[in-house]
Amino acid sequence: MSFTQFQFKSQIAANIEACGYQAPTPIQEQAIPKVLAGKDVLGLAQTGTGKTAAFALPIIQRLADGPRGKVRALVVAPTRELAEQIDQSFQELAKGTGLRTVTVYGGVGKGGQIQKFKRGVEVVIACPGRLLDHVNCKDLDLSKVETLVLDEADQMFDMGFFPDIRRILKHVPRQRQTLLFSATMPADIRKLAEETLTNPVEVRINLEKPLELISQALYPVAQKQKTALLLHLLKETTDGSTLVFTRTKYGAKNLAKKLDKAGYKASDLQGNMSQNQRQRALTGFRDGEFTVLVATDIAARGIDVSRVGQVINFDLPATAEAYTHRIGRTGRAQRSGRAVSFICHDDQVMVRAIERLQGMTLDRLSVAGFDLVDEVEQPRPPRAPRPASSQRAGGKRKVTTQRSGEQQRSGTKGQNTSPRNRPGKSVGRRRAATNSSNIFGLGS
Ligand code: AMP
Repeated sequence: MSFTQFQFKSQIAANIEACGYQAPTPIQEQAIPKVLAGKDVLGLAQTGTGKTAAFALPIIQRLADGPRGKVRALVVAPTRELAEQIDQSFQELAKGTGLRTVTVYGGVGKGGQIQKFKRGVEVVIACPGRLLDHVNCKDLDLSKVETLVLDEADQMFDMGFFPDIRRILKHVPRQRQTLLFSATMPADIRKLAEETLTNPVEVRINLEKPLELISQALYPVAQKQKTALLLHLLKETTDGSTLVFTRTKYGAKNLAKKLDKAGYKASDLQGNMSQNQRQRALTGFRDGEFTVLVATDIAARGIDVSRVGQVINFDLPATAEAYTHRIGRTGRAQRSGRAVSFICHDDQVMVRAIERLQGMTLDRLSVAGFDLVDEVEQPRPPRAPRPASSQRAGGKRKVTTQRSGEQQRSGTKGQNTSPRNRPGKSVGRRRAATNSSNIFGLGS
């Protein structure tokens, strides 16, 4: 299938080519004809599937004709970073059409945004709070909006934006096209979809597909050894950049400092930073100025940095769904990636939830000197030394420490099958997570 079937205007077709897109992604194949036909669309797709272009291209095609200087398309997104990213896609795909865009979000002055409104824009890409602020102050008129996009609806719900969205809906015409995208479809999102969409066409992209490009593994490790293990893994990393997730803003800042001290080009990205600092960190990471970005879940969704070679969950996230979003930052746009997570004793419940959602048991890896064997086995009487190789005993897997710097995949004696050696292949076995009482695969 090729983009020519959509009969985009020649300028738009040239822009698609300049972006290097050779063929539409599955969500583009499904959604573009429906959006072009003016239908409402409910899109179930995670980021990394090409969903931004799936809505941007047909919107640009429609707006290329018709009046200028009025807000004709409104995209509402949960975070400033995502708004900027969507804006970038619009700008690339609308180059040469004369269409003007503006991003609207808080944390920066209103003046620059108001000036752009005054000069005239056709596409507004906004976070809910600041958008309402402008609308209430009559800085911005949404009465001519033809297409409304609600992007990452589940994240907007998580962030408590639904009351704002319902207020925004009162300012856009009833007669309009609405496109709603969400990675998941819990009851609240479905309810919003029912309220906002008219006879929608549902397009759904199999969640597992992009994740197949991502190898996933767990490192059982003592909390106090996490930093040392991270430094060890970074030392071994030669391909692409690394996105590290921590649970807290302070943790992200602190860890980025430590990495910086250790000689890595590292930055943090967390909610205590000003918008300028956040943008600088993200741009620096995209451009390769920083090879390691230590972030809170602020960066878990929507953010597209196609060179992310690996995601490291220094701390596990609060939900299994957040894990899926985090690891989706790698393996984007048909590239392979790797995702590893450090797990401690307190993570038992979350590991099980993650494995249930992923529908597989993730491999446990260990590096000499960094695994949890000592801690797990501490309360037990000393036992006879075991040979330095992985073993099976009593049907459960054991991990023993390896020569310094060597990684061992538990339960796979002698096979060189660590994810690093099998790029692009999922190392987790496709079976439901077991009810094993020990998440570490350490055979207690
Ligand atoms: P998104 O899911 O919109 O965040 O897009 C993820 C990445 O896929 C972005 O880097 C896009 O530039 C890229 N992309 C979008 N459409 C295509 C396509 N048809 N072919 C190749 N890459 C694409």
